[in-house]
Amino acid sequence: MKELSCDVVVLGTGPAGMAAVAAAAAEGADVVAVEAMEHIGGNCVWSTGYLTFVNSAMQAEQGLVDDVETFVADAARMTAEAAEGYGMVVDEDLVRLFGRESAETYDILTARGVRFSRFIPRPRQHTVDRMAAVVDPWTFRTAFEPDFALPNVRTLFSTTARRLLTDDGRVTGVLVDGPGGATSVRARGVVLATGGYQANPELRQRYQPNFLARGPYLGVDTCRGDGHLMGQAVGGDLVNMTFVPPLVIVSSSLVEDAIAVNSSGARFHDEAGPYEERVEALLGQPGRRGWYVVDDLVAREKATLIGQMPEPAVQAPTLAELATTIGVPAAALEATVEGWNAFLATGATGDPVTGRVVMPPGRRTCATAPFTAIPMVVGVNFVSGGFRTTRSLQVIDVFGAPIPGLYAAGDCLGGLGGTAELGGTRISGGFTLGRLAGRAAARGDADTTVRHSVQGAFLPSRLDTKIALVDLSDSFADSGDAR
Ligand SMILES: Cc1cc2nc3c(=O)[nH]c(=O)nc-3n(C[C@H](O)[C@H](O)[C@H](O)COP(=O)(O)OP(=O)(O)OC[C@H]3O[C@@H](n4cnc5c(N)ncnc54)[C@H](O)[C@@H]3O)c2cc1C
Repeated sequence: MKELSCDVVVLGTGPAGMAAVAAAAAEGADVVAVEAMEHIGGNCVWSTGYLTFVNSAMQAEQGLVDDVETFVADAARMTAEAAEGYGMVVDEDLVRLFGRESAETYDILTARGVRFSRFIPRPRQHTVDRMAAVVDPWTFRTAFEPDFALPNVRTLFSTTARRLLTDDGRVTGVLVDGPGGATSVRARGVVLATGGYQANPELRQRYQPNFLARGPYLGVDTCRGDGHLMGQAVGGDLVNMTFVPPLVIVSSSLVEDAIAVNSSGARFHDEAGPYEERVEALLGQPGRRGWYVVDDLVAREKATLIGQMPEPAVQAPTLAELATTIGVPAAALEATVEGWNAFLATGATGDPVTGRVVMPPGRRTCATAPFTAIPMVVGVNFVSGGFRTTRSLQVIDVFGAPIPGLYAAGDCLGGLGGTAELGGTRISGGFTLGRLAGRAAARGDADTTVRHSVQGAFLPSRLDTKIALVDLSDSFADSGDAR
C-alpha cells in the first residue's frame, strides 16, 4: 500500500471541502484533498445557487436590516415545524455561529469572482430578505480552483475515502482507494466533507421508513453517506438522520418562472412555498398528479433544468393542445394561465389564488408559444442528518466526548439541519463552517469538554445499575391507548 502524509486531509470537495482546503492551506498546512469525482465542486455547481447570508454587504447595500438573533428566531420557527414530523434537534450555538460568520463568506465569494444578482423573497421562512441568487453556480468551482493549484495542496481525484485510521482514540488519517490502488493518508486532522447520504436509498430507508424516503433522487451520485459511516465507525454521534424530507423535485430557479396545475387545470398551491406544503398539496391531488407549465422563453432559458426533471416534459403549440396532451380540461388551463398573466400585469406582489409572493424581476408571464408541461414527482434532493460537533467543528462521540483529530462540515454536520427548511443554508453553511473546520484542523484546535450524551452525563454515580420505572403514561394517554 502506498503511503502519504500531510497536516490535514479533507474528504470531499463540495462547498464544505473546497472552503476547508482553502482555509487549511491559508494557515500554511500541507493539505491533501480526496475527491471521488474527477473534479471539485460537489453538488453546489449543479444547484440552483440560492445562498443565505446574515448581515451581508449585499443587504447593507440595499438598506436591509438584519441581525443574527432574527436569523436564529427564523431558524427556531422552521425547526419547530420540522420537529413535528421528524423529531429534529437543532444546535442553536452552531446556527448562531453560522449566522455570525456567513457575512464573511459572502465577502470571500464575491472577492473570488462569484456574483449574486438579487434576493429571493421567502417571507414565510426568512423574515428579512437574505437569500441571494448566484448568477452562475459554476463560479463556485472556479472561485476555489486556485487553492487546489497551491504548492501545499495535493488533490487525489477519482479517489474514494473508505476507512478512518485511528491511534489510541485519535483519528490519524484515512484509507483511500483510487486509480493508483489503495493509499494510506496520514494526517493530524481529518475533515469529513463527503456530503450527505441522499444517493444511498438503503441508508435513507434505514433512518426514514416513510415510503417517500425511497423516492427518486436528483444530485451527485457519490453522496452515499461514506463520511457518516466512517465517522460512525469511530464513535461519532449522528443526529437528525430521520430528516429525509420529501420534495417535489424541481430546481427553485425553474419554479420561479412556472405555475403548477392539477388534473382540473387549476393552480393548487404556492409553487414557491415551503417544501413540505408543496408535497402535501401534490399528494392531495386526484391521482397525485400535477404539472409545471412554462412558456417557450422559460423553456429555452431553463432547458438544462427541465432536462434534469425525473419525468420527460411535453410540449404543444397552444395551451389547448398542451391540455389535451396531459389530459386536463383545455378551457380551465387557458383560464388559469390567463389569470396568472393578469395577476402579474397588476404589479401586485401577492397572488390572490395561492398567496404566492412574486417580486420583480421574477415576474415571467406564460405567454409565448409553444408551451411546456413537466410532470411533478415527489422524491429526495437533500438529507439533513450528520454529526454533532463542537464550536470548532470537532466531531462529538456517542458519549459526548470530542474525537481528537476529526472534524466535519457541510452535509456531514447534523446540528444545522433544522435550518434547511429556511432555504439557502446548505451551500452557504458548507462554505462557512467548512472554512472554520479547515482552519481548526490546521491549527489543531482540540476541545476536550465532554457534552451531554443520549446515555446521560458520565458521572461515576450514574454507573450504578438500578432498576428504573420510566413513566410513559402521558404518551399512552396521548396515543389513546386504553390500557
Ligand atoms: C438540484 C439541487 C439544487 C440545490 N439547490 C440548493 C440551493 O439553491 N441552495 C442550497 O443551499 N443548497 C442547494 N442544494 C444542496 C447543496 O448543493 C448541498 O447541500 C451542498 O452542496 C452540500 O455541500 P457539501 O460540501 O457538504 O457536499 P456536496 O456538495 O454534496 O459534495 C460532497 C463531495 O464529496 C464527495 N464524496 C462523497 N463521498 C466521498 C468519498 N467516500 N471519498 C471522496 N469523496 C467523496 C462527492 O463526490 C462530492 O464532490 C441543491 C442540491 C441539488 C442536488
